[in-house]
Amino acid sequence: MRYFSTRGDGPVNLDEALRKGIADDGGLFLPEKMPAFEITDFENAESIPEVAEVLLRPFFEGSALEDSLAGILAETFSFPMPLTDLAAAGREVGLLELYHGPTAAFKDVGAGFLAACLSRLESNTAAPLTILVATSGDTGGAVAAAFDSRPGMRVVVLFPEGRVSDRQAHQLCCWSDNVVSLKVQGSFDDCQALVKAAMADAELSAVHRFSSANSINIGRLLPQSTYYADASLRHHRRTGTKPGFIIPTGNLGNAFACIMAREMGLPIGPVILATNANRTIADYFETLEWLPRASLQTLASAMDVGDPSNMERLRKLVGEADVLRQQLGVLSVSDAEIEASIRQDFKEFGFATCPHTATASHTWRQLDEELAGAHDWILVGTAHPAKFETIVEPIIGQTVPLPPELEDILSRPAHAIAIKPDLTSLASVIGDT
Ligand SMILES: *Cc1c(COP(=O)(O)O)cnc(C)c1O
Repeated sequence: MRYFSTRGDGPVNLDEALRKGIADDGGLFLPEKMPAFEITDFENAESIPEVAEVLLRPFFEGSALEDSLAGILAETFSFPMPLTDLAAAGREVGLLELYHGPTAAFKDVGAGFLAACLSRLESNTAAPLTILVATSGDTGGAVAAAFDSRPGMRVVVLFPEGRVSDRQAHQLCCWSDNVVSLKVQGSFDDCQALVKAAMADAELSAVHRFSSANSINIGRLLPQSTYYADASLRHHRRTGTKPGFIIPTGNLGNAFACIMAREMGLPIGPVILATNANRTIADYFETLEWLPRASLQTLASAMDVGDPSNMERLRKLVGEADVLRQQLGVLSVSDAEIEASIRQDFKEFGFATCPHTATASHTWRQLDEELAGAHDWILVGTAHPAKFETIVEPIIGQTVPLPPELEDILSRPAHAIAIKPDLTSLASVIGDT
């Protein structure tokens, strides 16, 4: 499979696209052509890794990793992703639980896959590859966990000091020596600017061999399409119908993976994006004008994105707003609605949802009768509520028990180096580690 940038550069093979993350022309990599599948192609695929092997095989054609695919997938899909049946007020809905990985959020899937691929590609190189990641929370933890202790790979995590929760900070700072955690005296935007500046610095890049692991890397998207394929196939086998998915959305990586699976022929019905108060996508569908803006802070902080980068991929793959809005729904959910939804979920389902997942359950409750009844719906659960206990616990009036994976992380010692938000400070700390 050959990959081209959304802005025209290319072609490159998968290995190059994984290593680079972003194309030289600033665009995002997309496969030259989406493979097409029939439902019967998956007849013998029972488990998620088996589904992944059928689905992802064409993307690895011409890659040095082609023969390692089974091993990569076994590593990536090492935790369960159950599809749970729920009922509320006489209506049934499914919950796809994507939060049982090492850091209890769906980003573990993409980060794990990328780490499994890159560590194999880099196994014979003299200088380690340095993954730079600016994070406001979930991404950094998932990437650090995925690359922890891997030979030939180093991770530098940059987060804004004092602007992530204590539990989140701990998850960014409790790893082996190959993960360097930096608390930056500045904002998340300062962290991102610092990563960009470092990657653009020819001298530093030559020494450290920088790469990025944020959600624009195609290696984050490919494995995510697997759980949509698997869940939709299971549902289709059981009922003969195509389920609709409601997906908590920020940078559009998770939802893009679902749309990719539908484009490839998987039995997926309607797809609805649930965003927080950041209305860029909702306004685009309404006005047909793409107007990225600064992000607003909300309770669903991992979705605080004002300029969702994967929209560039979606427009290339599917079309502009007039076409897109016929194939996708979107609802922007306010903080007050998120709070109400967490309360309602707890009352009706009997367990807590995280603020991100609660945007999906709110959206489901808002569907009109006709749409709600026309399909079976699956809510996508993106994080465990215990990650956001300071928001969730006061709303439900109870503590949320820690899942074992988070308990394990929080019991480790944590360590971070404080730096100023400038390239000199960054260069000095990563130079001597
Ligand atoms: C990252 C994240 C999202 C948003 O996913 P995108 O791929 O950026 O749209 C939603 N929920 C949680 C918990 C996340 O960490």
